Amino acid sequence: MSYDVITIGAGPAGYVAAIRCAQLGLKTACIDDWRDRDGLPVPGGTCLNAGCIPSKALLESSELYEKLHRSGHYHGIAVSGAELDVPAMMESKDAIVRDLTTGIATLFKANGVEWIAGRGQLQPDCQVKVTPHNGETTVIKAEHVILAPGSMPVEIDAAPLHEDIIVDSSGALAWDSVPERLGIIGAGVIGLELGSVWRRLGADVTLLEAQDVFLALADKQIARTGLRLFKQQGLDIRLGALVKSTQVTDGVVTLEYQDADGTHSLEFDRLIVAVGRRPCTDGLASEEAELLLDEGGFVHVDEDCSTNLPGVYAIGDAVRGPMLAHKGSEEGIAVAERIAGQTAEVNYDAIASVIYTQPEIAWVGKTEEALRGSGTEFTSGLFPFAASGRARAMQETEGMVKVLSDTASDRILGVHIIGAHASELIAQAVIAMEFGGSSEDIARTVFAHPTLSEALHEAALDVGGRAIHVARTRR
Ligand code: FAD
Ligand code: AMP
Repeated sequence: MSYDVITIGAGPAGYVAAIRCAQLGLKTACIDDWRDRDGLPVPGGTCLNAGCIPSKALLESSELYEKLHRSGHYHGIAVSGAELDVPAMMESKDAIVRDLTTGIATLFKANGVEWIAGRGQLQPDCQVKVTPHNGETTVIKAEHVILAPGSMPVEIDAAPLHEDIIVDSSGALAWDSVPERLGIIGAGVIGLELGSVWRRLGADVTLLEAQDVFLALADKQIARTGLRLFKQQGLDIRLGALVKSTQVTDGVVTLEYQDADGTHSLEFDRLIVAVGRRPCTDGLASEEAELLLDEGGFVHVDEDCSTNLPGVYAIGDAVRGPMLAHKGSEEGIAVAERIAGQTAEVNYDAIASVIYTQPEIAWVGKTEEALRGSGTEFTSGLFPFAASGRARAMQETEGMVKVLSDTASDRILGVHIIGAHASELIAQAVIAMEFGGSSEDIARTVFAHPTLSEALHEAALDVGGRAIHVARTRR
């Protein structure tokens, strides 16, 4: 069988690339080996099946549960009889995932993408060996191959996975009861989101983070605020805590970690290992194909996602750059358009990062620390949500918006938000940066009142020292 394009992987990078190729009139096949719990093939990759979507579904459910319990204190609504049904919550999450993965299968059909359930391996000359879930191994060929195999959780010797007691992120999205004492190794994005879910549902959560710095990639001021708020909520976050060993005895995990004060021992009922992800490139290409990998096993690509092999591209988590669904999808679209002879580019400087805690954290562009490090002259504007009428009405007053702009040109270099709905607010900053906007552009834009978005407006005004709703500007 011969195609214009074959994609290996049907996560947000591969399935989006396949659909865009088909839209552009290219005969396209998409191979994916993911199976659901019943062993049935499902498209969508990590994002839909064990990542973005199930985690956001549980974050939403658990937040609702917590709000029901808190609302009597601050909105004047006393709720009694609200009960937690974890298996029902998991079923609701599974139904959301099912709807979305079915939707992708429908999109494949509607666009004429041939979906092949099985494992793909790149061979020389854009050939792909397909080992289907059922049936015989075949070799198919294309003019172009897009590799989008994604990533998998990193495992560490100090904490081997053990039944449903020591689990990775996938396991922690499927528990049907709330652990009393939950440990999490790694206080990164995934550790914090999963920790938030289970804390809201009643677990006593301890996060052990090897680094001394909390959220090293985020703006320091935002990370500091986040750490304070998460600790206030009851997350026991221990920094500089390197986990050395774990042992499971009679269903209880005994964990040893080391910090500046020495070695400590803790006991947990369950433990999540959330120490990062690594590319799924083992066996992705045969030796004869001579696909070049970087250190860490990422597929080597240039800025256009071309690999060292003619006609072969790689996108998503398996290549350099942030491991984010939207980054992979945009790479998929750009590669499809380049294959079709169009010009396309991904602006890696305007890719937002989001942490879906409460409050949410979101940012795009450079942090204050990065700008200082590169000697860039910048001006910052800041606005606290405590001064926002809408945030007050919502009783979600924690956090701030911070705008960093180039002192000479006023071009926006970075926007950092911690606060309610930061994941939605950040899109406005992404658009402004994508258009090469200045803080003055945002300052002169009329924002609806009362909205959380006004905090971005005020932070932009504050760059010029003229925010209206704060008594003095803070720098
Ligand atoms: P994947 O989604 O991993 O898909 C790759 C697919 O390829 C898989 O189906 C895999 O089985 C298949 N495959 C691999 N090798 C082969 C092969 N040889 N043959 C056939 N098939 C193969 N990102 C965000 O942007 N926002 C979030 O909120 C977010 N939350 C997350 C929460 C969790 C708990 C986790 C774990 C991740 C989260 N991510 C989030 C990250 C996001 O899931 C990934 O960045 C995204 O899924 C990467 O897309 P991808 O297409 O590159 O790979
Ligand atoms: P992320 O890469 O955002 O998913 O975060 C994973 C975090 O896990 C990183 O901040 C690592 O420093 C942390 N980490 C990795 N190994 C260990 C370990 N053995 N003990 C504690 N934290 C760890």
